[in-house]
Amino acid sequence: MVDTDVLVVGAGPTGLMLANQLARRGVRPLIIDRHAGPSVQTRALGVQARTLEIYSKLGIVEQALELGKRATGANLWAQGRRAARIPLGDIGRDLSPYPFLLILGQDDNERILGDALRNQGITIQWNTELVDLEQRTDQVTAALKQAAGTIREVAAAWVAGCDGAHSAVRDLNRIAFRGAPYEHVFFVADTRASGPMVPGELNVYLWRKGFHLFFPMRGTDHWRVVGIVPPALRGREELTFDAVAPAVRDEAGAELSFQGCSWFSTYRIHHRRAERFRDRRCFLLGDAAHIHSPVGAQGMNTGLQDAYNLAWKLALVVSGRAGAALLDSYADERIPVARRLLSTTDRAFSLIVSDSWLAGLFRTRVLTRILSAAMSRDRIRKLAFRTISQTGIRYSNSPLSEQLAGLPAGAPHAGDRFPWLRLKLTADGPIEDLFEALDDTRFNLMVIGQPPPPADVSGLGDMLRVHAVPSDPVNHRTLSHAQIPQPSFYLLRPDGHVGLAGGRLEAEAVRRYVLERLQVGTDRARHQAEAGHELEDRRGAPSERSAVDRHADE
Ligand SMILES: Cc1cc2nc3c(=O)[nH]c(=O)nc-3n(C[C@H](O)[C@H](O)[C@H](O)COP(=O)(O)OP(=O)(O)OC[C@H]3O[C@@H](n4cnc5c(N)ncnc54)[C@H](O)[C@@H]3O)c2cc1C
Repeated sequence: MVDTDVLVVGAGPTGLMLANQLARRGVRPLIIDRHAGPSVQTRALGVQARTLEIYSKLGIVEQALELGKRATGANLWAQGRRAARIPLGDIGRDLSPYPFLLILGQDDNERILGDALRNQGITIQWNTELVDLEQRTDQVTAALKQAAGTIREVAAAWVAGCDGAHSAVRDLNRIAFRGAPYEHVFFVADTRASGPMVPGELNVYLWRKGFHLFFPMRGTDHWRVVGIVPPALRGREELTFDAVAPAVRDEAGAELSFQGCSWFSTYRIHHRRAERFRDRRCFLLGDAAHIHSPVGAQGMNTGLQDAYNLAWKLALVVSGRAGAALLDSYADERIPVARRLLSTTDRAFSLIVSDSWLAGLFRTRVLTRILSAAMSRDRIRKLAFRTISQTGIRYSNSPLSEQLAGLPAGAPHAGDRFPWLRLKLTADGPIEDLFEALDDTRFNLMVIGQPPPPADVSGLGDMLRVHAVPSDPVNHRTLSHAQIPQPSFYLLRPDGHVGLAGGRLEAEAVRRYVLERLQVGTDRARHQAEAGHELEDRRGAPSERSAVDRHADE
């Protein structure tokens, strides 16, 4: 007997995304947060293209675009002089419907995600802190401390630790968080400023001893400034922006003046990764699983993608349509992403913050030239976009990725996010945005250059949408540009990544893939479905059922 299918611990961006995605798939999670309400700190600022694609499926992309600012360019300043400008406006043209980086504060992202959750009828339980948990074979018992100090026990089938860098879910499961802090202390300030900065664009000041970033924020002359606390000020208690402002002015030039600062904070950055992302019925996502330097604006976005990866799998398992082994693929797929992220951000960060003489020279004399030359080349620009926007993440070595014969080297492969294409999806119909046509609450089968299968070859039933791409000159051009051969087929997972791919559509191979890899429709899944029927009856108000309230000191 459980009170909730999924207990989501933490209502930061990761927890909000997970709860939203579960709710869209018919699972009503219990989401708690130890704070009294949503965070009002901006923290992360960059929303990547892949996140916007996911926002679009959630119906919140328009709000995000309206509130945010598109980064049209990055201006690199070295020793007070503008050394280069990298155009960013449509850097990912043809690669994503959102070919840019959107500047939108974490607080706004959380607000939009919170509203979407409320619209699905799910309320966040604030002032509720996970303080203990016990894992059993068939459930987890979680002890939740409430505002008045009372402890409530909740039995959950699964627990998602979206509880940030100091994760209780991670600690209570004794999962090591390996890594180290960087020696530098950062400051972040929301300022009103005027000066040589190019308005509405990113301005990066590189100097011998470090760097300063100016992010344009909503409104006029509103800049988020990020930098390293000067060595002379490190360790000083109650540091204020007034103390670091002279160092910023020294580098940006005398024309820079600050008219005010509404938020100032310093923080020490760590690079750490949880040794495991799952312990039996508990999962770790977002900052609970990995933290790293803010280089490349990846942190919040990676947490959002962790949630998108886990949600569809958890929903299938909770509803008894797939075996629990499907959940192993969460860690199989997301640990390599975190590992790569930590190593790339670490290398880039070390270069940016190193105070060695050589690194200083490289930053101020060489880096700007290399970057502007490289970014003028189409191939490198596309590679940079794919990497930073997270649209290039692939799960090639995942147990869910299977490639059959018939696809050339340049074609999308098993594990890739299927490319964004504009195709005629019906004969004589309009050219459509494929991503709009894909249903991310189901699997999608793309059948290209061959007739669609006559019946449900997959065994997925109503969990599958078939898209037979008609023969048409527009489609031929688009497919050949994307190096997609005809005939070919792609079975896409709900998160848009290719599960099974090949040339000629083989019904038997698809059926085997669905049974063996996804474990959909297996006996084990059916047993779980039957056992889960007890749950079905009690779904709806998970927290109000058999939760036991008692005093913390009882
Ligand atoms: C000053 C600062 C600047 C940053 N700048 C950037 C940036 O520019 N770009 C970028 O990508 N990233 C940045 N980050 C990182 C980014 O903020 C995180 O990656 C992001 O917040 C991760 O989201 P999350 O939901 O995983 O965790 P969090 O946002 O930390 O949310 C965790 C939630 O869990 C709750 N919680 C914790 N413990 C419990 C418990 N026991 N019970 C119940 N609830 C609990 C917390 O109250 C919190 O609401 C910055 C971080 C900081 C601190």
